[in-house]
Amino acid sequence: MSPTINRRTVLKLGLAATAGAAPRPAAAGESRAAKAARPASRDHVGVLVDTTLCIGCRKCEEACNRRNQLPRTAESFSDRDVLRSFRRPTETAFTVVNQFPGSPSADQAGLPRTFCKVQCMHCLYPSCVSACIVGALVKSADGAVVYNPTICIGCRYCQIACPFEIPAYEFHVALAPRVRKCEFCASRVNGTGADPACAASCPTEALVFGRRADLLAMAKDRLTKRPDRYLNHIYGETEVGGTSWLYLAGRPVREIGLLDLPDTPPPQLTEAIQHGIFRYGIIPTAFYGLLGGIMWYNHRKHPGDGPRAPEEPGTASTPASKGGER
Ligand code: SF4
Ligand code: SF4
Ligand code: SF4
Repeated sequence: MSPTINRRTVLKLGLAATAGAAPRPAAAGESRAAKAARPASRDHVGVLVDTTLCIGCRKCEEACNRRNQLPRTAESFSDRDVLRSFRRPTETAFTVVNQFPGSPSADQAGLPRTFCKVQCMHCLYPSCVSACIVGALVKSADGAVVYNPTICIGCRYCQIACPFEIPAYEFHVALAPRVRKCEFCASRVNGTGADPACAASCPTEALVFGRRADLLAMAKDRLTKRPDRYLNHIYGETEVGGTSWLYLAGRPVREIGLLDLPDTPPPQLTEAIQHGIFRYGIIPTAFYGLLGGIMWYNHRKHPGDGPRAPEEPGTASTPASKGGER
């Protein structure tokens, strides 16, 4: 397989450039990453996604589409043929459900296939927030990561920084294109907090909305009571420092499209790049050049920043594993 340039690569290269060409940034004052991070607050909410209960009905996609007044889709939300292709969230679909065929481990657990919903994870240490140089993305007191289009300058650092490859961009919009992603159905205008339409619409309670701490307790209780049903792993409890959305699964998360990520929060990485950019004049030239190259490469490869090309019908591909390139 030929080597690819991607978001992780740019972060690695950017950090290397920062580390190699400039001293470490000053530690004085509260960092953007520290401001972005509000881990383990009792006020933080989340959603527990139990993939063993998901039936792939796409009601959550439909509810998301309506709540966010997104464009009508070409196919009906009751059309399950779309599950035959692997999809990613886009600027017109903030959440998607993918179907994964069975594997030996899944068959052993009596799960011939698995459905898995994806959206913004509302990270406890959101790298999109720390990467945003104008503060257009902020983490709310309840944990929702929300966006202010009126101050966004369209730099798309957030896209590069997100370890889950979530923020999408309105390339097709000539005037004032926006970054689009799940905002936990929080309303910045009305000042309301997370109120996920998807969870409210789920007929099987595969999505449970609540305080993150309570959801963690619920997930641990399920793991204790049904070791035959679940793998002993709560995805999002510790990945990239923890996320507001938590997942239970009956098979390895790599098999159902969830990225195998380290526990270290990435905002420190993005912040190191930002410090380097603004403190040392030589870095912007190199970094922006590199950034432009990545954008050109990715745009040429994926016009419109849409979902990746599917592989074989009915065999949704799983992204790279821990440490792998995306
Ligand atoms: S919380 Fe709201 S915006 Fe996010 S996936 Fe659910 S319905 Fe969509
Ligand atoms: S998943 Fe990506 S877009 Fe969502 S909060 Fe985390 S870093 Fe930001
Ligand atoms: S509404 Fe619930 S059961 Fe249906 S696809 Fe979404 S998460 Fe799965």
